[in-house]
Amino acid sequence: MEVQVAAFGKINLLLEVLGQRPDGYHAVNMIMQGVRLSDRIHVAEAHANHIFTNSPYVPNNASNLALKAALLMQAKLELPPVTIKVEKRIPVSAGMAGGSTDAAAVILALNALFRLNLPQQTLMTYAAEIGSDVPFCLSCGTALATGRGELIEPLPLLQPFHLVLIKANFGVSTAKVYQAYSSPEKAKAPADRLREFLTDIKGQNVSAILNSLYNDLEETTFSMYPKVQSVKEKLYSLGAEHVLMSGSGPTVFAAFTEEKAAWRFYQRAKSHFPVIYLTSTVSENDLKRRIVIS
Ligand code: ATP
Repeated sequence: MEVQVAAFGKINLLLEVLGQRPDGYHAVNMIMQGVRLSDRIHVAEAHANHIFTNSPYVPNNASNLALKAALLMQAKLELPPVTIKVEKRIPVSAGMAGGSTDAAAVILALNALFRLNLPQQTLMTYAAEIGSDVPFCLSCGTALATGRGELIEPLPLLQPFHLVLIKANFGVSTAKVYQAYSSPEKAKAPADRLREFLTDIKGQNVSAILNSLYNDLEETTFSMYPKVQSVKEKLYSLGAEHVLMSGSGPTVFAAFTEEKAAWRFYQRAKSHFPVIYLTSTVSENDLKRRIVIS
């Protein structure tokens, strides 16, 4: 038996840094949104643990978060070894939670493969042990993430909207961006911004959400990697209206309510950027069909 899981990437529609905590992590408010651009994870029982990937940029050993997730569950639940294949499509070190989503997909895969029927809360606890973004990636819909990003409150799934994503030709270390972070001038108090976002999400007001996209980390990443700021400016100059860096970057996305507008923009932009993706946010159906058992 093999279990395949779609490991969806994510973007941040809102990322507010509230300050540094005594444990060194930063407290955040984030609105996370799953996107269809995804890795595919295959898991099957084996005589020993193995991990294979099709990407030269991710490790084929226990430092791969996908294998880390399996090792953690094996240690806690005495599960048999597994073979894990990771078909990478999400760009690496891009601010799209690529490694975290692979880890979450392995947790879901082991739960299905060994018919564990673990409660969501247990899956969330395992996920949080691996990394701050992993709990969100278990559900990968629309959610509010607080704490250091690991406390997840599911929100109504937003009606799908469309995205053109640009990945600069280098990675960005999330840890380094947070180390260098200095609070930008804020036009709005974080609590007000979040309240408005939550109201718009409950009302499915996608246009208002796209008008309010916000990321506190942009200034820091832009000062460390000016090329990321150039990507944002280029997207505006090509006619995009709603543009934001995702997470700590370097991925920058342009968002569109209409699929046709996104497609036309993609056609216009693709000659300007070597790594560009046309995708959309996840739908109910994408989430329903993400686990396949064969
Ligand atoms: P986040 O948005 O959660 O900060 P990211 O998208 O910026 O993460 P990742 O693609 O998760 O970054 O990669 C970060 C680091 O994790 C890289 O150095 C990569 O080699 C390592 N890594 C470990 N396992 C994986 C994996 N399965 N997929 C991608 N990267 C992995």
